[in-house]
Amino acid sequence: MPLHANETTPERAAEPVAVRPQFAQDLETGEVPKFALADDPMPAATAYQIVHDELMLDGNARLNLATFVTTWMEPEARQLMTECAEKNMIDKDEYPQTAELERRCVNILARLWHADESEEATGCSTAGSSEACMLGGLALKWRWRDRRRQQGLGVDRPNLVMGANVQVCWEKFCRYFDVEARLVDVGPEVAHLTAETAAAHCDENTIGVVAVLGSTYDGAYEPVKEICDALDSLAASGGPDVPVHVDGASGAMVAPFVDEDLEWDFRLPRVQSINTSGHKYGLVYPGVGWIVWRDASALPAELVFNVDYLGGQMPTFALNFSRPGAHVVGQYFNFLRLGRRGYTDVQAACRQTADWLAGEIAAMDEYELIPRRRGIPVFAFTTTPAAPFSVYDVSEVLRGRGWLVPAYAMPPGMEKISVLRVVVRNGFSRDLAEMLLDDLRTVTRRLGAGAAVRVADATERTAFHH
Ligand SMILES: *Cc1c(COP(=O)(O)O)cnc(C)c1O
Repeated sequence: MPLHANETTPERAAEPVAVRPQFAQDLETGEVPKFALADDPMPAATAYQIVHDELMLDGNARLNLATFVTTWMEPEARQLMTECAEKNMIDKDEYPQTAELERRCVNILARLWHADESEEATGCSTAGSSEACMLGGLALKWRWRDRRRQQGLGVDRPNLVMGANVQVCWEKFCRYFDVEARLVDVGPEVAHLTAETAAAHCDENTIGVVAVLGSTYDGAYEPVKEICDALDSLAASGGPDVPVHVDGASGAMVAPFVDEDLEWDFRLPRVQSINTSGHKYGLVYPGVGWIVWRDASALPAELVFNVDYLGGQMPTFALNFSRPGAHVVGQYFNFLRLGRRGYTDVQAACRQTADWLAGEIAAMDEYELIPRRRGIPVFAFTTTPAAPFSVYDVSEVLRGRGWLVPAYAMPPGMEKISVLRVVVRNGFSRDLAEMLLDDLRTVTRRLGAGAAVRVADATERTAFHH
């Protein structure tokens, strides 16, 4: 029945809609327009209720162990972000203080990643790491082209070297900006790029190597220092001099706090730029990302545009023009609120929970861990021959309980192995981890016994727990 066409009794039609009980109003007993605009408006409260209720079908974000993205922020952060909801990041002249907070965040990150402290940092906020990676890749491409032109060499076949485990944004960068994606197969021992495989794939047309700090497949840090060392040797022996971009979407906000001794950042001269997702271990709701170059010379001037700012000009480098200012404000709130020790506490707690949960799962006969290396608080595990079911079965059945634990195949080179992955984030407490473990044990027992897990069973368990 189309909206507004409900039959109502004459007396009811005369009655103001506002006094009718919720869900008994015409608009709520009729069909909701889905793919075309309705002719008429409806009360805001009714629209709110309809949309709010539809969204109940979404998974619970806090139980989403698939995502790296922040699903919990403090009430004060939420309040601040709501206060800034209408601010456009690009309006630097109109919102100079939001621009100032962005500048502070860039400088904080540059110092965290050991850039030269005597200089104003070169970098910006983005919509997320994907945009940041595009900007990093473009800078590499422009610089490679400049070097080649100066030498009178061809510039028509640029390539980018990276492990087959890279996040899809790098394949997008290559396709969108006409660069050959030189994806290096992983395995059999490690599920990511290594120093040897990286150097072996570089040639004179290589614009850069991407090293991932926190592979999305198993959480491992790629060996950035070893990769840089191998590229140093390559250059020293007359080979190409290849710069490195570190994709620290997750790890660049983890390693500085809980792996301080690890050299992966601007301490390594070969590292030209680093990106991170403010909305992952930066602890801000989606979406904000960041990119920082080691100094102004690492970012070609032709890529930078100027916008009006306080009567002057301010340089910007971004794919999108308008972008939310609230998330940058949320990032600065976190920096101010947590400081170094706060971030260390948060990341250490996540690591502790990840280690504990991984240990408990590894102790079960039916599962084994993908070997854990130094990395972000993430682990992947697969089934052993003792399990008469697949990781896909486990993922599906856990979903019935509300847990979102993705199952997927490892990257090319190890694609025969399928895994389940758990991302431990701020807000996934030990208590929640214990409940996940209980549920995994139940699911494992039932799948093992060949018994279908019925919704009723899940309901009984809910009653038991609460
Ligand atoms: C998440 C992720 C990205 C993409 O980041 P978004 O912020 O989601 O755009 C890129 N690289 C790695 C390693 C990631 O984990």
